[in-house]
Amino acid sequence: MTLRTRLALVLVALVLVPLVAAAILVLYAVPRAAADRADTLVLGARSGVTNEISQTCELAQSAAVVTGRMLGSSSPATATRRVVADGLADWVSVVDDRGNAVSSAGQLPGGLITQPWSDCAAGEAGGPALSTELQVVVADTPRLSAVRTADAVNAAYLDDLRARLGFTADVVLLIDGRVVASTTDQSTDLSEVPTLAATAPVDGGLVSANAVTAAVAPAGPGMPFDVVVATPTPGGGVLVQTVFLVALVSLVVAVVAAVAIARDLTGPLEEVTDAAEAVASGDLTKSIEVRRSDEVGRLARAFNHMTDELLTYVTELEGSRDALRANFDRLGEALSATLDLETLVPVVLETAMTSVGAEAGVVMLGDEHGGLTLHAEHGMRTRSLTVPSAVVVGDGLLGAVAASGLSVRGELGSGPELQPSANEPQTGSVLAVPLRRPPHVFGVIALFAPTDPKGFDAAAESSLQALAGPASIAVENVLLHAEATRASTIDQMTGVWNYRYLLTSLNREVERALRFDRSLSVLMLDLDHFKLVNDAHGHPRGDAVLREFASRVQAEIREVDTLARYGGEEFAVVLPETTATGAENLAQRICAAIRSQTFTGDESEAPVSVTVSIGGAVYPEHGGSSRELIQAADRALYSAKAAGRNRWAMAVASERVADR
Ligand code: GH3
Ligand code: MG
Ligand code: MG
Repeated sequence: MTLRTRLALVLVALVLVPLVAAAILVLYAVPRAAADRADTLVLGARSGVTNEISQTCELAQSAAVVTGRMLGSSSPATATRRVVADGLADWVSVVDDRGNAVSSAGQLPGGLITQPWSDCAAGEAGGPALSTELQVVVADTPRLSAVRTADAVNAAYLDDLRARLGFTADVVLLIDGRVVASTTDQSTDLSEVPTLAATAPVDGGLVSANAVTAAVAPAGPGMPFDVVVATPTPGGGVLVQTVFLVALVSLVVAVVAAVAIARDLTGPLEEVTDAAEAVASGDLTKSIEVRRSDEVGRLARAFNHMTDELLTYVTELEGSRDALRANFDRLGEALSATLDLETLVPVVLETAMTSVGAEAGVVMLGDEHGGLTLHAEHGMRTRSLTVPSAVVVGDGLLGAVAASGLSVRGELGSGPELQPSANEPQTGSVLAVPLRRPPHVFGVIALFAPTDPKGFDAAAESSLQALAGPASIAVENVLLHAEATRASTIDQMTGVWNYRYLLTSLNREVERALRFDRSLSVLMLDLDHFKLVNDAHGHPRGDAVLREFASRVQAEIREVDTLARYGGEEFAVVLPETTATGAENLAQRICAAIRSQTFTGDESEAPVSVTVSIGGAVYPEHGGSSRELIQAADRALYSAKAAGRNRWAMAVASERVADR
């Protein structure tokens, strides 16, 4: 059963229970009270009516006495006329000793008055009149024997009586079960009255039947009629119908109102439930229309606010999840693919910052001096944080992390392990973890949150530590790879590029010169009579001379030029964007730089004088490929040797030889 149905039933019950109680009360008590009132009324009316009739009787007697007295001084005609005229009786008659009327005055309906007369009795014919007879003895007129008086007791009399007594019930007078008079304007069905009167107890009382309640006073001395006062028995039928109708209408109204109220109360609840179900199934855009300002309106507003917050939260969460995923993708790519430290380290830093919500950060890596050097920074300068370009291990906060290999987290300056050096940020939160390959630490990732009061929590620390593991491996791989690459292209003894790199570099430059139509030159260098140096000073000294030779040549060339050891005491220089003139000038400078100063070595060693011969070739005049260029330069070198050494020659067609 739904909440709405239950609520409607409760509301209907709340109305019905008192309604039924009231109906029962009304149906039971009201008819009782009405019946009691009717009983009292007819009983009271009956006594009033009998009293009045008795008084009318007495009046008739008084009229007879007055008439009798008047006969002493007046004629019967005068006496009777006067008494009627004075209103003492409706009808007066004086009779003689034979019973004949001597004189009479007044009128009675229907000639009711006949013999015999009893004391205040009804007319013999049972008519509606009260009469009396008084025997009289008149001195001078002995034949006069009696005075008879009568008063009409008809409908008019009864109506008048009822009006004076102030009741509405009907009055019926019976003689021997026959109706002789009754009130007009009857509200009662009087057909049953004779029967009712017959069933009344001998001493009178209340009787009722067929919707008539009647009080009966039987005829007796001084009361010639059976007096019946009747009124309709207060009918329950109409009342029941009315009550039933009212109850029915109330029930219908109650049901309609209950359903409406229940719908009004549960409708918004249903709406909230629907919306909550929609939200539960993932539709966070669902909202409820706020139509009112009551509790239901508050609930709707709170619900909408909740879904809005939830939507914002989910959107933010999805956004940061996507950002994190993108970062991890980049990190994954960078970790697995890149062998370039300058690409890898910023990706590691940005991923670290995103994963813990840092505002700024640096990555420091170990350098050849045993310290840490800055390799990447993000957000430091925009937030005016001091950027530590280099850190001494053991110094300051980052140095301490590098020295101990332990993470540090907290407010800068708030603890012994959180003391920054002068070239590190001074305020805000910091989270620093080491990059290491056990047991060595080779770097530090340090993240900063200068304005975020929440700083970094333990979860952030463990996230960063988790990231530092693979990042360490990747960075180390890059470092190892760089080292391996360097080893495979560097001449170990002199530190300049080796023959392998020379070919690679020269091939690349020839390719570039060809594609972009640029100039390119190559110089071949061969120390003069170097065998003698070895012979005179020993091989190690020869090696030292070769190293210094390489260093002097290196000092003469540009950064874009490539100096390589070709083999033994022969070297080559690749000169991109260099014409013959440029190559000649350089050859000239190198010859001078070697010849001008002796090679000193240790203090204990004697200085060595060395010279060099140089052959040069230019692309594309002397060769269209690496091989041709080297061969051409070699030929020019041979020319220089042949021309007396300690000089340079260019591979021109004429194999021009420079002067000393
Ligand atoms: P020139 O070139 O002027 O004709 O005379 P040279 O004595 O230099 O002649 P050559 O090229 O025949 O000899 C090269 C000598 O260089 C042979 C070798 O003793 C010496 N040499 C080659 N490589 C090294 C090296 O790595 N270290 C030392 N100390 N000597 C080397
Ligand atoms: Mg040689
Ligand atoms: Mg030589």
